Amino acid sequence: MSDENKSPRDGVIDADVVIVGAGPAGLFQVFELGLLGIHAHVVDSLAHPGGQCTELYPDKPIYDIPALPVCGAQELVDRLLKQIEPFSPTLHLGQEVSEVRPLGDGRFLVRTAVDTCFHAKSIVIAAGLGSFQPRRLVLPGAEELENRAVHYRVRNASEFHGQRLVILGGGDSALDWVLDFHGKATSIVHVHRRPEFKAAPASVARMQRLANEGAVTYVEGVATALQLDGERLRAITIKRGDGSTVDFEADHVLAFFGLHPKLGPIADWGLELERKAIKVDTAKFQTTTPGIFAIGDINAYPGKKKLILSGFHEAALAAFAIAEHLNPAKKVHLQYTTTSPIMHKRLGVPD
Ligand SMILES: Cc1cc2nc3c(=O)[nH]c(=O)nc-3n(C[C@H](O)[C@H](O)[C@H](O)COP(=O)(O)OP(=O)(O)OC[C@H]3O[C@@H](n4cnc5c(N)ncnc54)[C@H](O)[C@@H]3O)c2cc1C
Repeated sequence: MSDENKSPRDGVIDADVVIVGAGPAGLFQVFELGLLGIHAHVVDSLAHPGGQCTELYPDKPIYDIPALPVCGAQELVDRLLKQIEPFSPTLHLGQEVSEVRPLGDGRFLVRTAVDTCFHAKSIVIAAGLGSFQPRRLVLPGAEELENRAVHYRVRNASEFHGQRLVILGGGDSALDWVLDFHGKATSIVHVHRRPEFKAAPASVARMQRLANEGAVTYVEGVATALQLDGERLRAITIKRGDGSTVDFEADHVLAFFGLHPKLGPIADWGLELERKAIKVDTAKFQTTTPGIFAIGDINAYPGKKKLILSGFHEAALAAFAIAEHLNPAKKVHLQYTTTSPIMHKRLGVPD
């Protein structure tokens, strides 16, 4: 899956369809469009495809996917990625779609937070519960220090080398960074609120070994205050399980409390919403703006059920509607994948 469809003009990408969201609905949308001969660009704010399945419950089994009596959530995503391979979608990961607006000629400008720009003839919003945002440290001063001394992701690891770090959290991200920065940071204090960790047991064991050796300070507790020196972070106060508090001097605090979905910029795209979901019709799954469709958990219509199955059905109908939207003069006939030579060709099935 490549980035080959960039238009030479100002780096703007001309697209028939931009799909916002690479969860199960967005991925299956690629497939349904591909069967009709339509290429799609897919944008997701996460660094990997899979939406809630990958982010929230990758190891859990799903029992209500037709013809798959049981399927792991990550396995489902892997199967979808395999299924869409013949259609070579262009994936733009790790970038939130921040802006969608009409260009006035029937197309839309779609812009991401890292300034990837599309001129899209149609858009499918498959944004689920919204884009995943880091859970933030709710302490006075944390907002002002964000990206300077309080961080929720590591963009450039080398900026933390030779620094005094306090790393908060008990999941894989927290543990991975504790282990990664060991030997590179001046000091590391690792803080987690309870004895149980979500991270891989092998990582926890390594961190505990480092703590026993005195290479990392481990504290069971919660952060209760940031101590500032003017506008600079000086220290962080940790309240231990027994109620006592301790201050650790720190240059940077890295908090990894997981991600939670937030509707985010979608609310500003001029679409009619109903309780944080986008209103669509049930024939085309089109929004109140012609050319913009919405499928999966993000949409609302009478009787809507937020199930993967529903997103798959909606993707199929939306694909036909998009084909008509792109080429109103051409009637799109239903063809079966079992028997259609043209679909076999698109799927790469030898006849
Ligand atoms: C614990 C749990 C168990 C579940 N079990 C089942 C089950 O057994 N069966 C079932 O059918 N369903 C189940 N579900 C529900 C199912 O996961 C959802 O219905 C499904 O994931 C919806 O798919 P989606 O593609 O619409 O959205 P999502 O999976 O939410 O994907 C949406 C994607 O859009 C991205 N996005 C959002 N906004 C933007 C933006 N502005 N720019 C770029 N990207 C954006 C997000 O980062 C995300 O990756 C479960 C859910 C949970 C939490």
